[in-house]
Amino acid sequence: MGIEIIPIGGYNKVEGNSTAIKVDDEVVILDMGLTMDNFVNYQNTRELIQEERPSRLNYSELLKVDAVPDFYHIKDLHKNVKAVIPSHAHLDHVGAVPFGMKFFKKVPVIGTPYTMEFLKRDLLDKKYNKTFDRYDNHLITVNLNSTIKISDKITIEFIHVTHSIPDSAIVTIHTPYGSVMYAVDYKLDEYPQIGNPPNYQRLEEIGKEGVKCLILESLYADYDIETPSEEDVKKDLHKTLSKVDTDSKTIFLSTFSSHIARIKTLIETGLMMNREVYLVGRSLSTYTSVASKLNLMNFKNCKIIYRSNEINDLLEEVSNNRGNHFIICTGHQGEPHSVLSRIADNKFSNSFMPDDIMIFSSSVIPTEQNQKSFSELEKKLTHYKLNIIKDIHASGHAGLKDHKRMLKMLNPEFLIPAHAGIDKTQHLKNLSERLNIGKTILVSNGNRINLEDE
Ligand SMILES: [Zn+2]
Ligand SMILES: [Zn+2]
Repeated sequence: MGIEIIPIGGYNKVEGNSTAIKVDDEVVILDMGLTMDNFVNYQNTRELIQEERPSRLNYSELLKVDAVPDFYHIKDLHKNVKAVIPSHAHLDHVGAVPFGMKFFKKVPVIGTPYTMEFLKRDLLDKKYNKTFDRYDNHLITVNLNSTIKISDKITIEFIHVTHSIPDSAIVTIHTPYGSVMYAVDYKLDEYPQIGNPPNYQRLEEIGKEGVKCLILESLYADYDIETPSEEDVKKDLHKTLSKVDTDSKTIFLSTFSSHIARIKTLIETGLMMNREVYLVGRSLSTYTSVASKLNLMNFKNCKIIYRSNEINDLLEEVSNNRGNHFIICTGHQGEPHSVLSRIADNKFSNSFMPDDIMIFSSSVIPTEQNQKSFSELEKKLTHYKLNIIKDIHASGHAGLKDHKRMLKMLNPEFLIPAHAGIDKTQHLKNLSERLNIGKTILVSNGNRINLEDE
């Protein structure tokens, strides 16, 4: 009895996040994420084999290629699960929901507005909405800084925190044995450009009430820094553009399609330069349409396109009218089907012109696949003699100094580092020992940690 923490995915490696929290005999699952590299590789090989109408992806196939969390770890607890709660809309946190929910009939999926709206679109795209109806999985939207009661013993609170996608939350599970806080993906940004800074007031309050266990992301725990703000990225972009000769040159840019705050900065910069701003690519269209539906921002001052004929028309117009366009497109990781790669591969009637400006407001995700794809793209862009500017970017993840501030605010009894392997989690352990805050437990996927026994 008491609280048990059960890491399912994202503890030995960075992705495929999922954690079960057991309170007596009731369980909630936090996050149901994909391991993106494995997922994308698997999708690509399938497309090669079954070019005509590929069959729908299913959980068992995806588990075999290690693209989804292994819910067989908690087979004995499947019937005890009361809710599945994605912390935010990144695919390594929510992307496995369409597949993993097959184990959890009649169980609701609960999250903040952006997360749930994205999930609805994702389910429709993957044609899983009917399955959800059949399994009677209700989708419940809870506002930031609000709570929802799951049972007599479990109440969930979504505390707003900044990250790199709207409506990210520190999910807090209030139980009779104390509270468990799940801060998996956050940064502390005072000037986030969209939405408010983190809800420090509530975090401090909970810290005073007492936190039983804090599950903390450790992706950048090996960097002894405070992660810079989105405001710094804006300043950096403006400064960079003021130094380059943009006359009669097209400006191309790329960033994470889900990073609405960054896209806002880019759009505003383009408009400030009196250029016509375009968002080009399917995933940009998806994430921005969720943002406009929720009135986070409107995109009335720019054009959003993704069809090949529209891109052809745009590039035609660009070639006749140099120096007028500000084109934000998909492909910052060098993804082969993205707009950037397709322009570079001459898949359209027009392409880049020498001295055009290419700005990457992103960093390459350090996986073998992404590093390889990006360097291939970069080679092609260099061949076109583009002026390439990289790393106009700040991470969405906390550095070690931010973790220090978080630990001091929350003062947890136990600390469980998540979202990385031992190379990173060890840094959080060292920090908590140095500060003498929290007993750190380093865990692996499949472990079961009863907090009463620790
Ligand atoms: Zn994230
Ligand atoms: Zn993540």
